[in-house]
Parts: sequence; C-alpha cells; structure tokens
Amino acid sequence: MNNIILLGAQWGDEGKGKVVDHLSSQADYVIRFQGGNNAGHSLWVNGKKTVLHLIPSGILHPHTLCLIGEGVVLDTNVLIHEMSELQKAKVFADAKDRIKVSERTHLILPLHKAIDVAREAKAKGTTAHIGTTGRGIGPAYETKALRRGLRVIDLFLDQNTFESKLDGLMEEYAHYFTPSERSDLRAQTLRDAVYWKKVLEPLLVDMTTFLRDGHAQGKKMLFEGAQGVMLDQDHGTYPYVTSSFTTSPSAGTGAGYPKVAREARVLGIAKAYITRVGSGSFPTEMLGRHVEGEVALNEEIRKIGQEFGATTGRPRRIGWQDLVALKYAVEVGGIDELAIMKGDVLSHLGDFKVCVAYERPDGTRYTTFPAIADELGTLKPIYETMKGWSLATPENPEYEAYLKFIEKFVGVPVKFVGYGPERHQMAIR
Ligand code: GDP
Repeated sequence: MNNIILLGAQWGDEGKGKVVDHLSSQADYVIRFQGGNNAGHSLWVNGKKTVLHLIPSGILHPHTLCLIGEGVVLDTNVLIHEMSELQKAKVFADAKDRIKVSERTHLILPLHKAIDVAREAKAKGTTAHIGTTGRGIGPAYETKALRRGLRVIDLFLDQNTFESKLDGLMEEYAHYFTPSERSDLRAQTLRDAVYWKKVLEPLLVDMTTFLRDGHAQGKKMLFEGAQGVMLDQDHGTYPYVTSSFTTSPSAGTGAGYPKVAREARVLGIAKAYITRVGSGSFPTEMLGRHVEGEVALNEEIRKIGQEFGATTGRPRRIGWQDLVALKYAVEVGGIDELAIMKGDVLSHLGDFKVCVAYERPDGTRYTTFPAIADELGTLKPIYETMKGWSLATPENPEYEAYLKFIEKFVGVPVKFVGYGPERHQMAIR
C-alpha cells in the first residue's frame, strides 16, 4: 500500500469510516490530523454498532497504531471514554500499545464547550447560527489562533504556570459568564487536568520525530480526514464551515511530518448523492423547487440511507449529486482518486439526476463553484438524467455508466465503490 490521505469530498458523512476500516488493514499507522470529536465514524464490530468520534477507526485492526496529531483539538474525556469502550469490547488490553497523542495538540476545556453552547443559543434563528455540534471544537480552534489555548504539554507544567495560563485564557472570555460560572469552569478544569495528565502521560509523543522514525522503518501511513473538503475553513462554503482545514495539505501540517503526506495518494470519499447537516445552502438540495416529486424522494433516501448524524442524530439534508461541487472538491482538495459510496441506497428508486452546471437568476450558466455561500441557494441546478440502477456495483451497466460519467466530469478515477453498509460491501474497480 502507498501512504494515503483520506478526505471527505463533500460536506462530511460520506462513509469515510468504512473505507478507513478497509485501508487500515494494510496500514501500520492511522493518523488523525484535524477536527475534534465531531467526526462520528460508525463501525460495526462483532454485530454491534460502535461510533468513534475521536480515535481513528483503524483501531479495530490489531496491528495498527492510531495517532492524534497536533492539528486535532482534543477532548480528553471523550478519548478516555472511547478507550474504555474499546477496552471493554476487547479491541485492546492497554491503550498505550495502540494510541499515541501529540504533545502539541490543543485541549478542549470546559470553557470551550460553555462558549460554544452560549453562542449557538444566542444565535438561534439568525444567520450567525452555524449548527455546530456544541462540543467546544470551534472555540478551541479560536483560542489556538488567539495564542491563548492550552496544549497537552501544558498539563505537565508546574501548577502555578498552568493556572496562570488558564486564567489568561479565561480572562479573554470573562464577559460571557457570571463570576460564579467562571469559578465553576475554572475548578472543573483544574480537577480534569489532574486526571487527564495521568491518562495522557503514557500516550504522549513528539509526532515529528515519531513519524520520521516510522517513515525510516517503512511504516505504512493512513491519514484519516474528518468532515469534508466543502467544510474547509479556507475553501469550503464559508462561513458554513468547520473550524479546521480539511484539504490534503492539512495532513502535512496537522500531523507534523509533511514529507510523508506530500508523497501520499489522496483518496476522496463521496456519496452517490449529497447530504449535509447544519446550516448553509446547497444547490441540489431536494426541496421541491426544481424537480417534481423530489421531496418524497428526499425522505425515502434519508430512510433507506439512514441519513441521521452519527454524533447528534440530526436528520441530514439530502440532494442530488453535484458534479460542479465534486470537481471543485477534487481540485481544491488535491484528490487523486475517488470512492463513491452508498449507490445501493438509490437502487430501484428510478432515474437519478446529476448536476452539471448552475444557472443564476439572470439566466447565466456556469460550471465553477461560487465563493459566496449564500448565493448557492439562489442557483438553479442544471441536471443530466442518469438511468437508474438495480445494483450499485461496477458489474451493473447503469451504475458503471454513472461512475464513468463522474470520472469524465471531475477528471479522476473512481477506485472504490461502496454498495452496502456492511464492512465487506465494497468493490475495488
Ligand atoms: P463518515 O463520517 O464519513 O465515516 O460517515 P458516517 O459514519 O456518518 O456514515 C457511514 C454510515 O454509512 C455507516 O452506517 C456505514 O455503515 C454506512 N455506509 C458506508 N458505506 C455504505 C454504502 O456503500 N452503502 C450503504 N448503504 N451504507 C454505507
């Protein structure tokens, strides 16, 4: 296996977990390089659904080492919970043999969650409402950029220095909370810090050195992206984006050893259709504006495809495939090849539409992805109709025609095809 960077090529929830699971059978290291515990990969272990929000899903293969890079923001309580669940499921006996954490990774603190919740509550019903998962991830990236964040390594400072850093951080957000809320948050952080330090100590590594040595020993590395390219802070549908960088160069910076990431193949995961959670329009959403009967189909796909958030349970919004957006994701994400998942969800649902251009209200057509996210809701998608399929495998001529159409339009090959929820239901083309 080559080293691989795996990215979502849409707005997240593309079914990355399953592809990671498949590829990590050949990987020595599986590395997360961005995002936090909002990932939500669903995996089936011994017939039981396991949702991992933070630990790379490669953990299920006994030989892999799972690493959390400095581009991630770490909720240590979630890490501890996931480690204990995996231990209970006998996935491993001792976490330190299987999990490593960069000492430079920023911590998600009780303060970050409190900011997240307070802000989203205040913004509800306005355009400032992002629809975050309320887990403190955005605020943790914000305090990192503010140069006030606390990192894993800070837990090992002497107590006075740690407390003064914490106070400096809390001071920035003093106006959000009452004195008693502030004092509770501070006390909770100091209590957590004692526990976190104990749990994290055996897991800590200097990632750059660790990956350099691994590379020299010929270790195969899989960089596991979370969310999707269209949610990238620079290149996604800003401001309806996530707070980290989700394109392939982020694997180099977020894991701390760009040499390996630069040499890696970049695999983008997309679904045969589109889903999105949270705010922000997308042109092909099935809202009944452009195609007759699409609202009923929307509900059907959600039901068959089980399109509810793995983390929040929120119903996902559904749309037709958008090749203008996918081509943009391929280009801006640096994607070399694609995996198309969940074509089986559309089996027997009749002919299927694929967006190949947008039309502005003034009638002009174009095939580039617009920079202004709010413009997306005003565009009319121009569709081509694909003949429906009864089976979503490459042997099925209608489905194969759909895959070829995608390849021709976006300019990269479709290498993997997911045709069912089970681990083995994936074909290599
Ligand atoms: P991720 O965040 O990108 O890993 O995606 P999710 O974990 O939210 O969604 C993955 C869900 O889709 C899981 O329940 C998988 O079992 C399921 N899944 C993945 N690939 C396929 C596929 O090809 N067909 C079907 N029907 N389900 C799939």
